[in-house]
Formats: sequence, structure tokens, C-alpha cells
Amino acid sequence: MATQFEQRPEDGSVMLPAATIAGTRYGASNREAGNAIHNASTGEVIGWQEHADAAQVDAAVRAAQAALDAWRNRTPASRGKVLHKIAESIAADRARLSAMQQRVSGKPPLEADTDVSDAVATFNYYADLCADISLFATDTLALPDDTVTGERQYEAVGVAALIVPWNFPMVTSAWKIAPALATGCTVVLKPSEFTSPVEHLLAEIMTAAGVPDGVVNLVNGSGEVGALLVAHPLVDKISFTGSTAVGRKVMQAAAQDMKRVTLELGGKSALIVRADADIEHAVALALGGAFANAGQMCSATSRIIVHDDVYRKFMAIFEAAVRALVIAPPQTENVSMGPLVSHAQRARVQALLEQGVADGATIAFSGALDNACTEGFFMAPVVVAEPDTANVLWTDEVFGPVACVKSFRTDDEAIALANDTRYGLVATVVTRDGGAARRYRNALRAGLVWINTPQLIFPQVCWGGLGLSGIGRELGLAGLRSYQELRHCIASRG
Ligand code: NDP
Repeated sequence: MATQFEQRPEDGSVMLPAATIAGTRYGASNREAGNAIHNASTGEVIGWQEHADAAQVDAAVRAAQAALDAWRNRTPASRGKVLHKIAESIAADRARLSAMQQRVSGKPPLEADTDVSDAVATFNYYADLCADISLFATDTLALPDDTVTGERQYEAVGVAALIVPWNFPMVTSAWKIAPALATGCTVVLKPSEFTSPVEHLLAEIMTAAGVPDGVVNLVNGSGEVGALLVAHPLVDKISFTGSTAVGRKVMQAAAQDMKRVTLELGGKSALIVRADADIEHAVALALGGAFANAGQMCSATSRIIVHDDVYRKFMAIFEAAVRALVIAPPQTENVSMGPLVSHAQRARVQALLEQGVADGATIAFSGALDNACTEGFFMAPVVVAEPDTANVLWTDEVFGPVACVKSFRTDDEAIALANDTRYGLVATVVTRDGGAARRYRNALRAGLVWINTPQLIFPQVCWGGLGLSGIGRELGLAGLRSYQELRHCIASRG
């Protein structure tokens, strides 16, 4: 069986085919159609990926369709066994997966390693759910009419198109592939053009772990390839993670055939620090919430809302912490933050920052780049104080290391500030008052609220948001159900 991934031993460069369909690699029909892969820490070109054309996208969907019956007719336990094996194989290949993420995204080793652990946990979680036959079996319903019987059935939706961005390539792909395979769906995955070597490694691992040909197919390319995939009439379900702007296009395309959609989109989330909070702890949470993954997180809590009484203390400790961040290439000792993923993403973030400052936002303090950051897509973290609520840095998803801090006097004011957004993905509250924490939890418009914790994520806990943050939930039982159709049957006893 062909391998999906080719790394040249002489220089470590990666060469990615346009598509991997039913275990076979396909080159691009037009060799010019493709893009260079960069090392985000050095800017150096480390490889090339070819792009699929319309015929290859079609072939990938048809391969998934052809493999569907055999895969969904397996017992859940048999699919679970394959998922367990994938989890085991990812864990065994941790070093290679972590190194590739560090190379293409510049993630610090700890962050790259955490992503691998998250993928392992996700495959194990859905593998374990496969052992619970009640999630897949037909069950009977008690109906208030003894002349009939009622039955409920869950079945695989069918062929799923999975489109993922570049910020957490291991994680977003695992969050989609694991529940899809658990239910008996087959998939076509389109990774981001910036980080696709990670998914190619993952695909190679899945093939070796016993995923049958055609169950997981991969097409490379930019948004055009994604658009071809979502428009394909044989695709039954789309799971998309990315920007709200593209999410809208995906939903419009899905409407044509009434395809099922799960959309995990942007955010502009808040972290609230009450006057009773442990301020050192609040700063640690603010640091992680705003600057982990260089701020390139849909869940970034980039609007930090701090009580007046502790504002000065918070800002002093926060400033010292931001200045102490080691912003450097992944191999640097004690590195705490890496580069942005691409030249284009850094330019986009810097343009938003300039726009915000031109409109009156004040930069309170910034971090500093390590001397090793001579090349690559690095950007020092920036903290803006008391921006106007109409300022672009307060309203828009920046997706980079820019955080805003605003003060408040009453809980109602803090809640109003936090909810002053059309997004609604996550929120963090830092307080020692349990009653206040519960009031915030109930009042904040967010799919997930963390109270005094870092951004902990477990496969058991659903992920997804309100409003412009998307539709549906990934992970947890809802994540599994999102790849199933529900059918009921009422039959006469006679
Ligand atoms: P996009 O939303 O453009 O891309 C996400 C994925 O969708 C990529 O695989 C992309 O391909 C693909 N895609 C692009 N256009 C289409 C289309 N018409 N139909 C189907 N698929 C498509 O995000 P970007 O990577 O361009 O990032 C831009 C901004 O989006 C960021 O600055 C950030 O604000 C936000 N974002 C949010 C994320 C989140 O987790 N919520 C994740 C990433 C970005 P390709 O990139 O290969 O062209």
C-alpha cells in the first residue's frame, strides 16, 4: 500500500501528492498547481504540496462512497478496535508528529506534544464509545398505544467532508476523524495548505493501523479545493473549522443538497477577573488564554475584563509576565511562544493592530522577541489598555498575539462587556466566590465556561459555540451524534 507522505532523507524536505484516494497517491494534473510549505520559524521552504483538481476531488468522494457500506456494516466494536490502534500508533509516533508540527507551525515542543496527546485521547475516547452498543443499536420506545411498537435507530450519516485550518492540525483533524469513523462514516479530509504535512503523517499512521482503503481519503489544496469538496453531491455531511467568513460560504454551499453541517468558527472571548480573584493565578490564565499558540486560537480570551480595584495590580504582574515570555524558535531553551503560521497571517495581524491604534487604541506594553528570531513569522505579543468597545481590536477576531484589557466596576457591567459580541465560543471567570462564579456561568453567552482553570479540553466535553462561533458541537456524545442520522419506526402489532 502506498504511503501518503514522502520525506527526502538528504534534506528532510517533504513532497506531498495532490491526493491520496483509497490508499493510492495521485500527483497533480498540473504540476504548477501547488504551494510551497514553509518552516514558520525560519521562513525557509521545506517542501511542496501539489493541489488536487476537480476530477481528483470527485474520485476521493466516490472512493469514500464505495468504502461506506463495508465500513458501516462492521460492528462498532470492530471499528473501535481500529480507533484504539490509531491512538496507540499516534502515541508511538509522538516524536515524529511533534517534530513536524514544530517545523511547519513553529509550535514550542510542549504545545506540539500537547496536541499529540489530545489526538491520542480523542481516538481513545471514541474507541471506548464504540464498546457501548446502545449508542449504535436499535432500541425500543415505550409508546402510549399498545397496538403499536416503536423503535429508534441511529445510523452513519454517510460520506463526510472534513475541512480543517492550520492552527491545530493534529487536534482538529482528530476531533473530526475519530467520531466520523466510530459511527461508520467514511471521510475526505482537506487540510490547510500551510500545515498539511501533519495530516499526511496522520493519514500514513491510520493506514498502517488498519483503516481500510477508501475510509479516509485526503485531498490537498487551497479554498478552491475545499469549495469543490463541499459542493460535491455525494457528500452527506460537512464538518468545517475555520473563519466565520468561509463558514458562511460552506453553509450556503451545503444548503443546495441540505447537507448536514457542523461549523466551528471564530471567537472573541472574554476572561473576567473579579476583585476577589487570586491575581497571580488570573495573570497565568490570561497569559495562556491570550498567547498560547501565539494567540492563534478560536478560543483565545483576548478580551480581558478586570475589576477596577485590582486593575493596577493585575496590569503590573501581567506586564512582567509578558516581558518574561521567551518568544523564539521551538528548539530554544525555555521557549514559551513561537511564530505565527505564515507571512500572510502575520501581515494580517499587524494590519489589524495598526488599524486599532490608528483608531485610538493605546498599547500598554509588549513582549520582546528573542535574538534567535531573525527570520520566520514571529511577532511580539501586544497588550492594549482600555480600548473603545467599537475599536477593531475589541470587536474582531485578531488570531494573533494581541490582547485587550478593560476595567469594570459591577458584575453586570462585566457580563455586558463579555457578551458584547456576536461570537460566543468560550469564557473564563476568575473568582474565589462560588456563588458569583455560578451567576457568571449562567449569564455568559458561551459554549464552554472555565472557572479558575486554564483552557482545559477533554474529549468528554463538547466544543462549539453560539452565534457567529458556529453551529453544532464537536467532541463528547454530541460529537458522535453529529455523524449519525436518527430514524424512528412505528409498527402495528397486528
Ligand atoms: P479559512 O477559514 O480561510 O480556512 C479554513 C479552511 O477552509 C482551510 O482548509 C481553507 O483552505 C478552507 N477553505 C477556504 N475557503 C474555502 C471554501 N470556500 N470552501 C471550503 N473550504 C475553504 O481560514 P484561514 O486559514 O484563511 O484564516 C483566516 C482567519 O480565519 C484567521 O485569521 C482567523 O481569524 C480565522 N480562523 C479561525 C479558526 C478557528 O479555529 N476558528 C482557524 C483558522 C482560522 P486553505 O487555507 O488551504 O486555503
